[in-house]
Amino acid sequence: FTPGLQMSPVKDFDIAIVGGGIAGLTLAIALNSRSIPVTLYEQAASFGEIGAGVSFSPNAVQAMKVCHKGIYEAFETVCTRNLWPSKEKVWFDYVDAYSDVTSDGVLATAFTISNSLGQNGLHRAHFLDEAVKLFPKQLVRFGKRLQNITEDGNGRLVMHFDDGTVAETDAIIGCDGIKSRVRQAIVGPDHPSARPVYTHKYAYRGLIPMEDACAAVGEERAQNACMYMGHDKHILTFPVNHGKTLNLVAFRTTSEDWPDAQRLTRSGELDELLQEFKDYGPAVIKLLKLLAPKLNVWAIFDLGYPAPTFYKGRICISGDAAHATSPHHGAGAGFCIEDSAMLAELLADEQVKSRHELEAVFATYDAERRSRAQWLVESSRWIGDCYELRAEGIGNDFTKIEAEIKKRNGIIADINIEEMCARAKDELRKRLSGSCE
Ligand code: FAD
Repeated sequence: FTPGLQMSPVKDFDIAIVGGGIAGLTLAIALNSRSIPVTLYEQAASFGEIGAGVSFSPNAVQAMKVCHKGIYEAFETVCTRNLWPSKEKVWFDYVDAYSDVTSDGVLATAFTISNSLGQNGLHRAHFLDEAVKLFPKQLVRFGKRLQNITEDGNGRLVMHFDDGTVAETDAIIGCDGIKSRVRQAIVGPDHPSARPVYTHKYAYRGLIPMEDACAAVGEERAQNACMYMGHDKHILTFPVNHGKTLNLVAFRTTSEDWPDAQRLTRSGELDELLQEFKDYGPAVIKLLKLLAPKLNVWAIFDLGYPAPTFYKGRICISGDAAHATSPHHGAGAGFCIEDSAMLAELLADEQVKSRHELEAVFATYDAERRSRAQWLVESSRWIGDCYELRAEGIGNDFTKIEAEIKKRNGIIADINIEEMCARAKDELRKRLSGSCE
C-alpha cells in the first residue's frame, strides 16, 4: 500500500464515516488501506484539531500499528517523550501540590507511575497534519453536517446533510464526537444517553515555553510528565513540541452547573485560575503565572449515562460518539484508535463480502468493545477524584491513590490489541455461521 493512494475495492459494499477527528480519520485510513470502499463526511471546511496536547498509552500505540503502520510513524514523528533518559518509562511523577522546591531547586515526588512506553505527548494538530497525508483527499466530503438518516426502498441508507444534500451508503459509522447525531439516531433523541453529562469538573489549558517552566518548578518537573495533586483540583504537565514547550492542564471540581451545555468551552482569565489555585505551593503558583492572561476553559462532559448499544442495523458509533470520557486516564483518544483497529479488522475479514454481513460485524464490535469502553468512562471519573484527594475510602492516602492508578492503568495498557481483534474475528465467524446470536 502506498500512502495516499486508493486501492481497487475488494468488497461489494461501501462505508460512510461521519466525522473526521482521531476516531474517523484513523478508521478511514485503516479501511482504505484494506481496500474497503469508504467515504469520510466532515462538517468542517477542512480537517482541524484544537491546538492542545494529547498523550497515548501503550494500548493506543499498538492499535495505531494495527490500523496502519503510517499512523504509528506519524505518531513517532511528532511525539515528545520525557526529556530525561532516567524517566524513559515514567508515565507521570505525582507531586503533593502544596509542597515547594527545596534549596537545591527540587520539587519532591510522592510516587511514580511507569509503563512500557513512558509518557509521550504530542500536539494534536501536528499529529493530524501527518495522518491526513495517509488518506486520499478525493474520498473526503467537507462541509457535510449530518442531520438525520433514512433508508431507501432498496436497503441503502440515506444521509441527509444540513446543506440540503443527501448521500447513499450501505453502512454508517458515526465518529461524530461527544454530541453525536449518529448516536441519537441509534438510541433515539430522547434517550438519556443521547446527550453528554457534565462531570462537574472543568479545565484551563495552556502552553508555556520550556525554559520559563524550568525556572519555576525545576528541570526535573518541567522536562518530564508531572501531576500536582491537591484538594478538589489537580494540574498535569508534560513536554510537547520536542521539549520546547510545556503543556499544562489545570482541573477544578465544582458543585455549580455548566451554564450552557451547547458550548463546552468558555473564555477564562488567568487571574480567575490563580485565585482558585492560590493555596498551591509557591513553585506551582510561579508556573501558573507563566500562562497567558486569557485562557480557554473546557467543561469536562462525558457519556456518564452509557449508551445501551453501539449499533442498530448497519449504523454504528465509534470513538467519543460511543464512549466519550473525561480525560483523567489520558486514554480517550487511545480507545478511539482501538475501536478503529477492531472495526477495520472485522470489516476486512474475508467472510465479510456484502452488505448482508455488516450487521453481524457491528453486533460483534458492540459485544467486544462496549464493556471495556464504558468501564473507562466510569474509571476515569473515579481516578480524577483520586488525583483530587476526594475519592471515597481513598482520600489523601498517597499509597492508596498509587495502588488505584496502577490497577486501573494496567487494565488500559496491558492488553494485546492484535489478540483482541483476532478474538473478535472468531466471534464474528461464529455469528456469521449462526452459532452465536
Ligand atoms: P472528535 O475529536 O470530537 O471528532 C468528531 C468530528 O466529527 C469532528 O471533526 C466534528 O467536526 C465532526 N462532526 C461532529 N458532528 C458532525 C456531524 N453531525 N456531521 C459531520 N461531522 C460531524 N485522550 C487521550 O487518549 N489522551 C489524552 O491525553 C487526552 N487528553 C484529553 C484532554 C481533554 C481536556 C479532553 C477534553 C479530552 C482528552 N482526551 C485524551 C480525549 C480525546 O481528546 C478524545 O477521546 C478524542 O479526541 C475524540 O476523538 P473523536 O474523533 O471521537 O471525536
